[in-house]
Amino acid sequence: MKAILTDGIEVFGERDVASLEGLQNLQDQADEATDRNLTWCLQGRVIDGYDYTHQAWVVDGKYVRCGHPESMNCKCYGRLHEGENINAR
Ligand SMILES: [Zn+2]
Repeated sequence: MKAILTDGIEVFGERDVASLEGLQNLQDQADEATDRNLTWCLQGRVIDGYDYTHQAWVVDGKYVRCGHPESMNCKCYGRLHEGENINAR
């Protein structure tokens, strides 16, 4: 699995990880080194967590609606694709 180090906008690093434990280890190091400003996440396949590619939250492999109020009429990926499987494209 490929993991990327990101602040949500830019990608600062790439690493191959063998497991989610490996990812957690990288995150622990990053927390210490960057004061929690950067996050390691799996590239491309987020099962649970934040999909930085689409800027949307994912739970159980499905996109979750954003937290914005209805009146805001936002165009967030999570709103437009709520409930869709992350691999359904
Ligand atoms: Zn939104």
